[in-house]
Amino acid sequence: MKTVQVNASNSYRVLIGSGLLPQLGEHMKEITGNCKAAIVSDSNVYPLYGAIAARSLENAGFEVIHFVFPAGESSKNGDTYLKLLNFLADNHLTRTDCLIALGGGVVGDLTGFAAATYLRGIAYIQVPTTLLAAVDSSVGGKTAIDLTAGKNLCGAFYQPSLVLCDTDTLNTLSMDIFRDGCAEVIKYGVLYDEALFDLLAQTGISFPREDVIARCVQHKRDVVASDEFDRGARQKLNLGHTIGHGVEAHSHFQISHGKAVAIGMAIVSRAAASTGMCTTDTSDRICRVIQSFGLPIQTEFTAQQLMDAALSDKKRSGATINLILPKKIGSCVIETTAIAHLQSFIEAGL
Ligand code: NAD
Repeated sequence: MKTVQVNASNSYRVLIGSGLLPQLGEHMKEITGNCKAAIVSDSNVYPLYGAIAARSLENAGFEVIHFVFPAGESSKNGDTYLKLLNFLADNHLTRTDCLIALGGGVVGDLTGFAAATYLRGIAYIQVPTTLLAAVDSSVGGKTAIDLTAGKNLCGAFYQPSLVLCDTDTLNTLSMDIFRDGCAEVIKYGVLYDEALFDLLAQTGISFPREDVIARCVQHKRDVVASDEFDRGARQKLNLGHTIGHGVEAHSHFQISHGKAVAIGMAIVSRAAASTGMCTTDTSDRICRVIQSFGLPIQTEFTAQQLMDAALSDKKRSGATINLILPKKIGSCVIETTAIAHLQSFIEAGL
């Protein structure tokens, strides 16, 4: 097992390893003592892992209740959120009780936002079961639900009290969903860690999970410690996301988030090489690794279409937009780009 300590407005440990889910109750007891534990999960994950989590909690002396909602992004909305809050109130959860997010990023974001707001704040524990949730969404305290106007438009910064990542749970993911998470893993290599990038280039998709997840979480931990509220360095985690967002939106979400981010990283890398920000060798290496994971590096959408979506992105400010660009593997910069230059920049990377 690997442990990563996160020091933000709330300090907590991230435990990563095989066989951890049956120990959930023991680890949680160290933090919350005996209390009521509400497992929040989705309709795919709960049948697979709900009983193991509940048994572990009951054996450790917790009173366990559960709330299960239909799997998928379309459940990450105000309706499910209010149902969850009413469920907690109907079951008389108090501020000394605890929520457990058992699932991927959808479960984690929704549970975290409910925890941030129920009784003005109740403890919660993240138990990520997708690769994306393990390396990204379960750590750092960004919680949210979607509004009709867009994704993640209603949320709060609210850190969990513990993250417990049982790498065995990733075995039941479809290859497609696992691959989506790989785009985020590659992203950490490009952003911060050439040794991680080189390891991924060697191993491809069969990378050592515990080690690689822990490395990614350490990077996320460092950036959250330096910029918890996303005013500066944390923006770098958006590498590939602004253009990826455009790919996702123009495909009407038929192209998944991970594949869209992979395309976005490839486009900004090629564009950065064309302006001399990085070498062609760097952009070729990035594209090769993305492809070796079975992820795409090209899109049929035009620069104009991608720019339109980029301009509706939250990260825009006035006449400029912040793009994250590679200088070399393991080192990226936040480049404030004039909107007037954006289309030609994207064109250079297509
Ligand atoms: P998800 O939670 O929808 O999970 C993907 C699918 O896999 C779902 O159908 C789910 O039921 C299923 N699943 C989950 N674990 C499984 C397992 N172990 N075995 C079999 N099936 C399993 O999606 P995701 O990709 O994990 O997360 C995406 C969400 O995360 C988005 O809503 C995004 O906005 C959010 N996100 C948040 C942050 C953050 O910092 N808070 C960061 C990145 C993404």
